[in-house]
Amino acid sequence: MIPFLDLKGINAQYRDELKEACNRVIDSGWYIQGNECKEFEKEFAEYCGTKYAVGVANGLDALTLILRAYKEFGIVCDDDEVIVPSNTYIASILAISENNLTPVLVEPDINTYLIDPEKVESKITSKTKAIMPVHLYGQTCQMDKINEIAKKYNLKVIEDSAQAHGAYFGNKKAGNLGDASGFSFYPGKNLGALGDAGAVTTNDEELASTIRALGNYGNHKKYENTYKGINSRLDELQAALLRVKLRHLNDEIEKRRAIASYYIKNIKNEKIILPTLRAEDNHVWHLFVIRVSKRDELQKYLLDNGIQTLIHYPIPPHKQNAYAEWNNDNYPISEQIHDEVLSLPISGVQSLEDTKKIVKKINLFDFA
Ligand SMILES: *Cc1c(COP(=O)(O)O)cnc(C)c1O
Repeated sequence: MIPFLDLKGINAQYRDELKEACNRVIDSGWYIQGNECKEFEKEFAEYCGTKYAVGVANGLDALTLILRAYKEFGIVCDDDEVIVPSNTYIASILAISENNLTPVLVEPDINTYLIDPEKVESKITSKTKAIMPVHLYGQTCQMDKINEIAKKYNLKVIEDSAQAHGAYFGNKKAGNLGDASGFSFYPGKNLGALGDAGAVTTNDEELASTIRALGNYGNHKKYENTYKGINSRLDELQAALLRVKLRHLNDEIEKRRAIASYYIKNIKNEKIILPTLRAEDNHVWHLFVIRVSKRDELQKYLLDNGIQTLIHYPIPPHKQNAYAEWNNDNYPISEQIHDEVLSLPISGVQSLEDTKKIVKKINLFDFA
């Protein structure tokens, strides 16, 4: 079976370095908020091109804490609105509702699957305080247009970069394209820990320091609580492992690009819609997503031929039971995307032989 993602294989590439990092943490006697976390934050901020990175427990917390900090600043209040794409992963939206804010869904562009800036402006009301563009599948959103709209209406721009470590827009990277950005290092992401982990990046010193406090019970100083905070910290072990993985991230991205370009050149089935690239060198291919009307049939056929694929995502946010208030709303582009997308296997350890087999089987699929 060709797996969708061979996580064990990915981490096995760095086994010696990862074990060395574990040993260093074990022997240090310091397991929370120590040197590894500090160094990783420095290295990750440098990688993204931002002044600050703050390690947190996961990607959802990263996004939640950014909005929470803006609430503490009085920039955002209960029941204010945050614009977010209607086809995103549920975590983007949970971060908004968790803060007692109202997510306002905006449809994506059917070709790039990214929030459509043309549709953002008509959704802005006097309660709108922020836009959360999601760099879905590993490609950055149209950030020039989004930032222009944000400037015009005085909105904060919070990037969801959970799938886009290292992706560029122009000469800047994801994480450095708005006011603040949330990253996830969930094991399956392009930069994956060996457990849960996340980070916020920003150039705003006050925001960085407030998020650091909010994730540590709300204190800047031990036992002196400024906010009613939470416990959301990046532990030393994950930080040490992430420092190893970060050194190899560009290599992982290049290998993914080679597979993506092989897929794009060689998949010749006219019923299959291949990804649309906004700029050749930008996409980091967290997911390689094709669109096809007989999606479920194709997925079953590939599985019967020993190829595992996944669907990102099968149910759009507005059809989830958790958001019953939206269940009767219409987001036709999102619904079509959720009915038709299929993610093909892609990773830095996938062999050319496997990639060739996947292409060959797809090209032989009979749509009749
Ligand atoms: C993975 C992901 C998240 C959440 O990250 P966790 O670390 O799993 O909490 C948020 N947004 C998007 C787009 C994601 O893909």
